[in-house]
Amino acid sequence: MIPAQEQIARNFALILARIEAARKSALKPAGFTKLIAVSKFHDAEHIRPLLEAGHRLFGESRIQEAQAKWLPLKRDYPDIELHLIGPLQTNKAREAVGLFDAIHSLDRVKLARVLTSECERAGRSPVLFVQVNTGEEPQKAGVAPKDATAFIAEARGLGLKVNGLMCIPPLGEPPAPHFALLAKLAAEESLPLLSMGMSDDFETAIRFGATHVRVGSALFGERDQTGGSSAAAVVKPMVRP
Ligand SMILES: *Cc1c(COP(=O)(O)O)cnc(C)c1O
Repeated sequence: MIPAQEQIARNFALILARIEAARKSALKPAGFTKLIAVSKFHDAEHIRPLLEAGHRLFGESRIQEAQAKWLPLKRDYPDIELHLIGPLQTNKAREAVGLFDAIHSLDRVKLARVLTSECERAGRSPVLFVQVNTGEEPQKAGVAPKDATAFIAEARGLGLKVNGLMCIPPLGEPPAPHFALLAKLAAEESLPLLSMGMSDDFETAIRFGATHVRVGSALFGERDQTGGSSAAAVVKPMVRP
């Protein structure tokens, strides 16, 4: 393996051990919290160490990037499970339903409608998380907490099965109150899945009952996002242990 791959394999073992420790101290059963390895902006070369270590659950935020990267990898590893964690435009819903096993960004009625018909058409239904804008940030996707109950009822009314909730706490705020709010809303709606926690706060999220943590940079290193639409992925050497 090249040095970057060795570093990723080490990061992976470390993150798994931290998840396991947090899961135990939260008194959750084995396997309760799953690691979604967020591989956006990182290419196959950097993903392979995880595949070789047996990991199969990955998250991507853009449809086109995910298709280009994962369709070839799925030939070698057919049991890969792919989650869409980024926003979904209705005109990409068909491709999303075709590629992803779970969608974490259901947040509006129009999208719920389109997903209903695309799931019927494809005869396949990805696991669905409703994204909640727990910080009520104007620039952020997600339904407002006070609208969550009505939105979930509407999605269910369309025939969609909602499986869980997802949130991205505001930058620079303690995440714990946001995780607590998401967990409370999920309990009220009897939703079993909670997608919360990223590189900097996944242990806190596990303490509040996360079933899925979405970890990118702590595994793969910092992303080079300067190119905007550029799909080129650059892994900078990791500085942290
Ligand atoms: C990029 C991304 C992540 C991973 O973030 P890191 O801080 O790199 O772990 C998690 N969730 C969502 C929605 C993302 O877009």
